[in-house]
Amino acid sequence: MVKKYAVKKIGIIERYQEFLPVSEATPIISLNEGNTPLILAEALPAELGLKNVRIYYKFEGLNPTGSFKDRGMTMAISKAVEEGAQAVMCASTGNTSASAAAFASRCGLKCYVLIPEGKIAKGKLLQAYRYGAKVLMIKGNFDQALELVKQMTRDGRIKLVNSINPYRIEGQKTAAFEIVDDLGDAPEYHAIPVGNAGNITAYWKGYKEYKRAGKSEILPLMLGFQAAGSAPIVEGRPIEKPETIATAIRIGNPASWQGALQARDESGGLIEAVTDEEITRAYRFIAEREGVFAEPASAAAVAGVRKLAGRGFFKENTRIVITLTGSGLKDPDYALSFDDKIEIIEPELDRVKEAVH
Ligand SMILES: *Cc1c(COP(=O)(O)O)cnc(C)c1O
Repeated sequence: MVKKYAVKKIGIIERYQEFLPVSEATPIISLNEGNTPLILAEALPAELGLKNVRIYYKFEGLNPTGSFKDRGMTMAISKAVEEGAQAVMCASTGNTSASAAAFASRCGLKCYVLIPEGKIAKGKLLQAYRYGAKVLMIKGNFDQALELVKQMTRDGRIKLVNSINPYRIEGQKTAAFEIVDDLGDAPEYHAIPVGNAGNITAYWKGYKEYKRAGKSEILPLMLGFQAAGSAPIVEGRPIEKPETIATAIRIGNPASWQGALQARDESGGLIEAVTDEEITRAYRFIAEREGVFAEPASAAAVAGVRKLAGRGFFKENTRIVITLTGSGLKDPDYALSFDDKIEIIEPELDRVKEAVH
């Protein structure tokens, strides 16, 4: 007799198929994405002076390619195969290309990615290469790359897999389902970084659908955070030359702008900006004090929670979930850019003793 394993780790399509636009005819292209941990923050509430508030990190950096993009990509690629596509294309600040390339490689689709020159974290770039995508670096920014991809995919022969592909949002909403499944209800607050705004749109959709299905009683306030140099939604106008160290949210004209406004307004939440300095502080805090290494864009949401806590925004006896969108390993250059450099010493006991004092 073949021994059956009691626990089978499955991806988001199998787990949540009744909430997704899939059928018997949909081939499931999966890397066991999703099912990421909700990690209780130990140090942050005290640091922020929050009493009787539980903060959880939804750590999406533990997805197969190291970001939440895998949730949307398993859907987008599965549907592309179902529809007979031979190739997919995306514009990317990095993580979308890493994810698209991985899922495309898994099912033999060609994958083309357009990335902005010089402004992409090294880990993400090397993923796209190693998964076998054709990488094109354009002398321009993300918004220009996305415009070119839209034109290239207009006739439908190559499928666009950016988050304006509605299947991406469908897949990404499953993160909200997992949070409700873990907590037993939705949290009072959900904090999330906002770049192209697909993810905040997806979470809000997920929370609403789950509540409608009777899985939760409350809906969270959606709290979105942009980087101050790339904050089109906060400023109410597209930003022509977006700048921030958080390259994953360096976007001047978000494709899901309307979805973000809807999430904000329907939930009674807000979308605000945090500076690169605040992002960096949060980035270091969660790594150095919580043992959670996320990329700078993810830390924008932590910085945002700090900012709101500072003005007494959060009520007692509530829960805050912060989505940490990607792994800190994605951006080694930024991780090594601080002055706490590694000490190099002679291989002698005295030198080691000196150094540990
Ligand atoms: C894509 C991405 C974001 C931004 O998500 P949007 O859906 O574009 O708003 C934030 N953080 C990381 C790590 C990402 O990869």
